[in-house]
Amino acid sequence: MTTAATAPEGVSGGALTGDAIRLPNATGLHARPAALLVALAKKYQSNIRLVRGTDEANAKSVVSIMGLGTQHGDILRVKATGTDAAEAISAISALLTEGCGEQREPGSSATASVLTSLPLTASTESTQATAVSVTALAGVCASPGLAVGRIVQFRQDVIVIAETGESIELERRKLEAALDAAHVQIEALKSRLSDPAGAKILDAHQELLQDPDLVEAATAGMLQKQSAGHAWRAAFMRVSTRLESLEGAHNALLRERGNDIRDVGRRVLSLLAGVKQVQIELPQDAILIAEELTPSDTASLDRSKLLGFCTTTGGATSHVAILARSFGIPALCGVDDAALTLAEGTLVVLDGAQGLLHHQPTEADVTRAQDRVAQQAARREQEKTLAKDAAVTTDGQRIEVVANVRNADEAREAVALGGEGVGLLRSEFLFDERSTAPSEDEQAAAYVAVADTLGAQRTLVIRTLDVGGDKPLPYLPLPKEDNPFLGLRGVRVSLDQPAMFRTQLRAILRTAGKARLHVMFPMIATLEELREAKAILAEEAAATGHTDFKVGIMIEVPSAALMADQFAREADFFSIGTNDLTQYTLAMDRGHPKLAKKADGLHPSVLKMIALTCEGAARHGKWVGVCGGMASDAMAVPVLIGLGVQELSASVPAIPAIKALVRRLSLADCKLLAQEVIQLGTATEVRARLAAFAE
Ligand code: PEP
Ligand code: MG
Repeated sequence: MTTAATAPEGVSGGALTGDAIRLPNATGLHARPAALLVALAKKYQSNIRLVRGTDEANAKSVVSIMGLGTQHGDILRVKATGTDAAEAISAISALLTEGCGEQREPGSSATASVLTSLPLTASTESTQATAVSVTALAGVCASPGLAVGRIVQFRQDVIVIAETGESIELERRKLEAALDAAHVQIEALKSRLSDPAGAKILDAHQELLQDPDLVEAATAGMLQKQSAGHAWRAAFMRVSTRLESLEGAHNALLRERGNDIRDVGRRVLSLLAGVKQVQIELPQDAILIAEELTPSDTASLDRSKLLGFCTTTGGATSHVAILARSFGIPALCGVDDAALTLAEGTLVVLDGAQGLLHHQPTEADVTRAQDRVAQQAARREQEKTLAKDAAVTTDGQRIEVVANVRNADEAREAVALGGEGVGLLRSEFLFDERSTAPSEDEQAAAYVAVADTLGAQRTLVIRTLDVGGDKPLPYLPLPKEDNPFLGLRGVRVSLDQPAMFRTQLRAILRTAGKARLHVMFPMIATLEELREAKAILAEEAAATGHTDFKVGIMIEVPSAALMADQFAREADFFSIGTNDLTQYTLAMDRGHPKLAKKADGLHPSVLKMIALTCEGAARHGKWVGVCGGMASDAMAVPVLIGLGVQELSASVPAIPAIKALVRRLSLADCKLLAQEVIQLGTATEVRARLAAFAE
C-alpha cells in the first residue's frame, strides 16, 4: 500500500475509496482487460466497485464493467467495503494504472491494434492472421474428390426453448450444468488456439460464464418460474443489447463485445436446449463451411446443390465424414478455423484428397481444377459402364463389393452402380431425428423396403442399433458418462434396453427370405455379449418362426480382433469396422480435432488387427468383410485383399471405382504387399509404399 496512486484516499459509509486513476487503455475496459480486473477482484472478500463520476460497476462482473462504457482518459476510482478492502483497492488500482495487461498509450500500442482487429467470436479468433496470409487452409481428408464452388457459411440459428420451468432448484441445477459444460467446451477451444491474444479472449468468455450479474439476472428470471434457458437468454440478451446500444465511436469495441456475450450466451443456451439443427438452405454449387455438422444436419442437405463441405471439428472417421463419402463429394474435417471467416460467395477449390481448401485460387487454378473435375467425372462414367461386372482379381479371386447404406433409396442407387448387396445397413439412421423410438411396424417397413430392393439373391447385412458414443438419441435416456466411447455403445445399449432390442430384432427378422439376411451386432467386445445377443435373437426367431438368416459381428474392438479365433466358432461372419477399430487400437478419438488426423487405418497396428481377424475366421471357414471407411479407400484395398478380406462394403458412389481397382489387382501380389507393409513402422510409411494406388 505504498504506491502513490493506489493508497486508499478516504472512507465513506464504511467503504474505502482509492485514488483517482486516468484510464490508460486505448479502447477502454473491454472484455479482456475487464476479465483481468475481475479475476483480481475475485481474490478479495470485499464488495468492490469501480466508480466513474456518478456511475458505478461491480468490479467482480465483466458484464457490469463493460456496461460502464469506459474510454481512454476516463477518471476511475476503486471503492471497496470489507475486511480486505484496503488491499483490494491497492492491488486493483495498480492494475488499472498499468493498463490491465494492455499497453498504456493509445495509437502507439501494438496490443491495442491487435485487439481492435480481433474477430467477434471464439471460433475465429486464432486464425485471423493465417486467413489473410495463406491461400489454402488445411484439414483432414474426410472424403476425397475435387470441387470448384462458392462458400456458404453455416451457423446454427434458432434455438427454441420452453418459457416456463420446473422447480427453481431443478432449473438452477440445469443452468449450472450448462455453464460447466460450456466452460469445458471453451477450454477445448482454447487448446486449439496458437496465439495468446485469442486464448485471452476465450478466458474472458469463460469469465462471462461465472459473471455474478448475469447469473443473478438469470436466477431472478427463474424465480419468476421461467425455465433456465428462457431466463438465461433474457439475461444475456439484455446485457448484449445494452452494450450494443452504447453511443459514440469510442464504444464500437464495447458494442462488439455484445457479440461476445451473445456468443457465450448461445453456447450455454444450446446446451440447455439440446439444440437440433434447422434445415440448411443452399444455393447452387455450394461449399458449406461450419464449425460442426451433426449427422442429421448433413443428412438433410440438398445433395443436388452441395459440392463439398468443411467442418473445423471432427476427423476422417467421424460420422459426418461417413456421410460425405456416401454423398460422393469432397469434404474436410478439422479444417483451419480461418475457414469460418471466409466471405459468403467466395470462389474456392476444395481438394478432398490433399486435404486443402484453396480460398484465393487464380483463374488458372480454377481452370485447372475444373479440367480435373471433368477428367475424374469421365473416368467415373467409364467405370460405371463396367460396374455390373463382377470384381475378380487377375488371378481369379472373387471379391464381393457391396454397399454401406441407410435406406432403400441408397440401396437402389447401390444396385444401379453395381453393388452386389448391402454390407452394412446403418439402422440407427431410422431412429435418428425423432422424439420417440420407431415401432416394430415402422422399422419393418424400412428394412423390408431395403430387402425388396435387393431381392432374395442379394446379401443384406442389417446392423442392430449402434448408438452411444458420438451418436446420441434424443429419446433414449443414456446416462452422462465420463468416457462415452468406452461406455454404453453399440450392442451394450441394446443389451441394456432389451425391450427396444427385441422390437428391432423382430422387425429385422421380417426381412428373412426377402433378401439373404445377415444380422450383425456392433461393438462386440466379449463372448458374453455375443452369446447374450444371440440368445435374445434366437428367442425372437423362434417366436416369429423366421430362421433363415446368418449372425455375425462387427470387429471394432481390439479384444474381438485378438480373439477372432474364439469368436469365429460362434459367429457366421465378421465385418471389420475399421473406423472404430482404428480409434480403439490407437486410443485416438475418431472425432478429435487434433488426433483424428493421426487415426489412420493404415497404421501397421490396425493392419495387424485385421490380419488376426482374417486368420481367426479362416481357421473356422468363416468370411471376413470390411465395412469401415478403409473399404472405400483405394490405397487400402490391395492390402485388405492381401490380408484375406473377401467382402468390401463401400460407400455407394465408390462402388464402380473399387470394382475397377479389384480387377486390376492380383491376389498373389496383394498378399506380398500386405506382408511387406504390415512390417513397416508408421502409417505414413505404409501410405508412401501404397502411393501408386492413390486415386
Ligand atoms: C466402423 O466403425 O468402421 C463402422 C463401420 O461403424 P460406424 O458406423 O461406427 O462408423
Ligand atoms: Mg463403428
